Amino acid sequence: MTRDEKETLYQFLETARCSLAGYGRPEESPVTFTDDPDTSDDTLESIAAEIAACHRCPLAETRNFPVPGEGADHPLVLVIGEGPGADEDSTGHAFVGRAGKLLDKMLAAIDLSRDTNTFIANIVKCRPPGNRDPHPEEEAARCLPYLDRQIDVLNPAVILVLGRVALQNLVKTTSGVGKMHGTVLSYRNIPLMPTYHPSALLRNESLKRPAWEDLKKLRALLDSESPAGASVTGEQ
Ligand code: URA
Repeated sequence: MTRDEKETLYQFLETARCSLAGYGRPEESPVTFTDDPDTSDDTLESIAAEIAACHRCPLAETRNFPVPGEGADHPLVLVIGEGPGADEDSTGHAFVGRAGKLLDKMLAAIDLSRDTNTFIANIVKCRPPGNRDPHPEEEAARCLPYLDRQIDVLNPAVILVLGRVALQNLVKTTSGVGKMHGTVLSYRNIPLMPTYHPSALLRNESLKRPAWEDLKKLRALLDSESPAGASVTGEQ
């Protein structure tokens, strides 16, 4: 049984237990199993070193460079995209192509930057050939533990999720970003806001206005006293 299957079974049993005891739905919180690897000594560097040697999924066979992510060590915001494209695969750096340049401008508009207060990562650390969507079980689910460990080390105040693929791999929803953008959800007890992927904005100018509204909401959430206490809405 994979760890993911174990967690699904655990959540199912917890939901049944709480419902039988009349508690309603159980609180969502990270689960640890006794045979989980010890990650208490994790650092961004040690996780990146593991990613560099990773062969957990078929993407490792076709990648040039893995892209662990980059930015501030203690970020206010963690930005999560889908996976490296050609520019990222050939450099090992996240969001360095056209979409990345636009992302940097979007972040700068609300006083965020990968140089100071933001970390940028992806669901999968290696490029899916031809920029296809990563396979949810064979690729994304096998890579996700790296992102979870990065989140534990980074402990961001808020997560900004870019696009449908990242959203659907983190939050159990079948809805796309068109419906969910700008809502405050949560992941590992951290407020999470989905917005449009910058590549979508490059293809469709009319999405820039709603994306800007999302960014302003994100800024307001950061400026509120306690982002962790923000109201959590939306489908989970
Ligand atoms: N698109 C993504 O989702 N991630 C990158 O790193 C680059 C482009």
